[in-house]
Amino acid sequence: MAKTTITPIGQWNTFHDNGPYPTRLLLDTALEKKSVLPQSLDRYRDAASEIQRLLQDTLDHNERFRAFGSGWSLNDIAHQQDRMHFNARMNLKWSIAVSDLHQKSTLDAGNLFFFQCGNIIKEASAFLHQYGKSFRTTGASNGQTIGGAVSTGIHGSSLDVGAFQDAVRGINLIIGPGPHDNVYIEKHTQPVLNDTHIANLGARVIRNDGLFLAALVGLGGFGFIHGVVIETEPLFLLKRYTRHIKRPAALQLAHSLDFSDPAVFSIPGEMDASGTCNRPFHYMIYVNPYNKKEDYITEVMYKKPYRTGYPDPIPRICNAVYKDLPDWMAAFAAKHNKLIPLIMKAMTETIFPTLDDEAEGTLPEIFWDSQHAGPAFCISMGIDHRDAGAALDLFIQVVNKYGPVPGAIGMRFVRSTEATLGFTRFPYTCMLEMDGILWTGNPQMISLPDLEARLWEAMRKEGIPFTMHWGKNSAWHVPGLIDYMYGNKDGEWKEYRSALLGKQMADVFSNNFLQRCRLAEFRTHTASKLTESILV
Ligand SMILES: Cc1cc2nc3c(=O)[nH]c(=O)nc-3n(C[C@H](O)[C@H](O)[C@H](O)COP(=O)(O)OP(=O)(O)OC[C@H]3O[C@@H](n4cnc5c(N)ncnc54)[C@H](O)[C@@H]3O)c2cc1C
Repeated sequence: MAKTTITPIGQWNTFHDNGPYPTRLLLDTALEKKSVLPQSLDRYRDAASEIQRLLQDTLDHNERFRAFGSGWSLNDIAHQQDRMHFNARMNLKWSIAVSDLHQKSTLDAGNLFFFQCGNIIKEASAFLHQYGKSFRTTGASNGQTIGGAVSTGIHGSSLDVGAFQDAVRGINLIIGPGPHDNVYIEKHTQPVLNDTHIANLGARVIRNDGLFLAALVGLGGFGFIHGVVIETEPLFLLKRYTRHIKRPAALQLAHSLDFSDPAVFSIPGEMDASGTCNRPFHYMIYVNPYNKKEDYITEVMYKKPYRTGYPDPIPRICNAVYKDLPDWMAAFAAKHNKLIPLIMKAMTETIFPTLDDEAEGTLPEIFWDSQHAGPAFCISMGIDHRDAGAALDLFIQVVNKYGPVPGAIGMRFVRSTEATLGFTRFPYTCMLEMDGILWTGNPQMISLPDLEARLWEAMRKEGIPFTMHWGKNSAWHVPGLIDYMYGNKDGEWKEYRSALLGKQMADVFSNNFLQRCRLAEFRTHTASKLTESILV
């Protein structure tokens, strides 16, 4: 039987020290040994029983329960003060066979894999490599767990691919301790697994597009994600270039996302015979908010067929982005904040990627390990790419007016998600971000939540629609924020959540973060069809 170690911890913190937050118990479940249960599916069902036992114990003590992965979210979305469950030892994974597919599935079984929630992106990528497969996209680095990555809806900068959760085809949730509380949900318009395989997971099936899309970005509040089916693709290489780019060209590309015209921007060798530029897989712009005249830096990547024998890209990638910003800068900046622009200028080579550089590698090699541990912040807002120029100007104005603060701006671009509360919700979303060193507000320097509140205020005043990355720092307490971002989508999410979980379990899976965003609210009179399986 899977075994859970329970430790009273007093407090818990994120990977980047955004807490600490008071916490009673840490639960850490280890799978049963292979020698006892050799089959992955048997160990998977055994682990599900253990999670259900833990949920029953949570109910018996009238407490709350929250799963977390790597703690990479830079706010308290993963935190719960009663019981926090660490998932990283729950890392089973297997390939899907043709015989596991639903008779109406149109997907290629060779591209489908099942991952238990605690798999880290890095280990899951290494597993896929053995099959000659790759995730379609990940984040900019690889330390998140599958459960955590899906729950907040992480994104890379893969123009035409979407966010990480957009490759999820089925999701297995444990929603309580009872025999009917282990559910596998997939779209009724895209059935994937047959009922036999789902029964082997220990789950009952619900095929329902609306429920699936609501549960997908579940913010840790939609039950315990035990595992997911992910669609991958054959291995590919990415050729990465970093170049200077004039601001007008950078913003023209952001606005149009049309990369074909060499008069706007081109990379020798990345054009077809007619002189039309190739469409990149990834487009990113780096901006120093304190230097108005400086050209921007762009990072572009083009997809190439996989081949062996290419030079190892890791040494170059280590020098790529935001590498190891020293902690002394934060302390120094707190006392002498007017010097931040000068420090950023002096550190340009450290903060921004090395220029005119080229590297080639697989997705997990290019989006490699994170280089910075220690206190950090990231403000990350999603906007329609056609608003990118106006939003960038406002962002720069606000940080110059109320800052300066120790961070640099990045802009990435991602195709729309279908997930009900996915923050990459515009047809193409520009993720406008500021990354830097976490500081404490003081008489010389605006606090991070106050700066964020100023930013939201400025965007709202200009009528620029935006969303926020669920796993990044944010002034989530600002009234009306969720409605501004999601219209009636948050209401739809609450309906599905309430219908699936029921009042008691909806409360068990709530936390302060959900309450602050008013997403923990329970809807009493939900339609039964919300959780019905729709026949295909
Ligand atoms: C160095 C670094 C780089 C980053 N780069 C990117 C990036 O490029 N793109 C991007 O979009 N984001 C990025 N982020 C943000 C980060 O990827 C997300 O916040 C992600 O959700 C973190 O995954 P995690 O495994 O650490 O989850 P956690 O932070 O531990 O948890 C996130 C959420 O998932 C829930 N959860 C976790 N497991 C389960 C489960 N089994 N069942 C139900 N709920 C669960 C938690 O309750 C919580 O609500 C970065 C963060 C860091 C620190």
